[in-house]
Amino acid sequence: MGVLNSANTYFDRAAQIMGLDDRVKALLTKPEREVKVSLSIERDNGHLATFTGYRVQHNSARGPMKGGLRYHPHVDMDEAAGLAALMTWKTAIVNLPFGGAKGGIACDPRELSRPELERLTRKFVEKIHDIIGPQRDIPAPDVNTNAEVMAWIMSEYSKIHGFSPGVVTGKPVELHGSAGRDEATGLGVTLVLEQCLADAGRSLGDCSVAIQGFGNVGSHAARCIHERGGKVVAVSDSRGGRVDPGGIDVPALLQHVRSQQRIGTFEGGAPCSNEQLLTTPCDVLIPAALEDVFDVPLAREVQAGIIVEAANGPTPPEADDVFREHGITVIPDILANAGGVAVSYLEWVQNLQHVTWTLEEVRENLSRTMTSAYQEVAHLGRDRKLDLRTAAFVLAIGRVGRAAVLQGV
Ligand code: NAD
Repeated sequence: MGVLNSANTYFDRAAQIMGLDDRVKALLTKPEREVKVSLSIERDNGHLATFTGYRVQHNSARGPMKGGLRYHPHVDMDEAAGLAALMTWKTAIVNLPFGGAKGGIACDPRELSRPELERLTRKFVEKIHDIIGPQRDIPAPDVNTNAEVMAWIMSEYSKIHGFSPGVVTGKPVELHGSAGRDEATGLGVTLVLEQCLADAGRSLGDCSVAIQGFGNVGSHAARCIHERGGKVVAVSDSRGGRVDPGGIDVPALLQHVRSQQRIGTFEGGAPCSNEQLLTTPCDVLIPAALEDVFDVPLAREVQAGIIVEAANGPTPPEADDVFREHGITVIPDILANAGGVAVSYLEWVQNLQHVTWTLEEVRENLSRTMTSAYQEVAHLGRDRKLDLRTAAFVLAIGRVGRAAVLQGV
């Protein structure tokens, strides 16, 4: 279906429940700006290669726009627009003074050397520097981008605009990054899961968890869940996975992935395909890779009682309907993975104020933010008899809509 269609469908469902005025609806659905740029770089072999970069700025009613940059062959305008809209709702749910944006470069980073990636990133900044900035639009890491890529962005932008660490978040800690940004999304996923379990009188100690995707988000989620007593029974990356009903040795797996880069060669448990992982018997399933993971037949086979959407857009609306029919609780992406942007906000504030906070301070702040966001959404859901996703959209649309209307058209 595509993340843009999914985001629009979920928006429409919530807007209908809210009886949203058509004029406000129009104001909140169209992106403010969509930019597509051509990026030519010299390959290491001397040949010229041209890539396409995208940045979609969805809504700035609540503040400067915020959202990741993705390097992946599937990146296009529709994907960026859908993910940018999700960022608008996400920043509102955790009540940050930000709007939403998203972008990336259509490329396969596995086919590019590190110097080629650096040249490509710097070329992208050269093309979009006038529409980003600490008070305009602040990119961050997403799929296949990391702290090093953010450092290149800061360096290139600062060449043009002067010292500007606040132009980007998710930077290396040694270069104006924040303690705790790396783990923030995975830790945030764990914190909302704990809240959800506590509401049902349960705890991580009596839960088995399967995780799809073992990059930044999936690996930190696995570590945090393991450290807090949860049993991780299956994990995967793009090349396959491992399943072990007795519990995977997460510290050993993290060590293995750090040296070998892939899960498939880990010796614990048995090999499994991604489909087997998603349908494996477990209490909690965490998609932490890409969007549109579930189609209807696959959704019908899911055995977990709770799904925590660590990835953006893993569940198209038809699959969401199946989960609801089956009584599966879905903690939606715009709430579940908001820990990343919550700590990005803390990084941005530290950059603007030239201060440095400790890991404990950052974790404490993140815990407060995620706990109160979960409780607000869950409370609204109980009050108005809505599932968590619809409640999250209602909360977000209300906040963004009021900010937009108060400023006038
Ligand atoms: P990443 O590039 O670090 O990791 C992605 C992981 O997914 C890798 O392990 C990769 O092998 C795996 N993967 C890719 N295709 C797969 C497939 N078909 N099946 C199974 N695994 C597959 O990316 P990330 O930063 O961890 O982001 C993962 C998801 O979380 C994305 O949807 C992203 O938008 C979302 N997200 C990330 C952040 C963040 O702070 N990084 C914040 C919010 C949301």
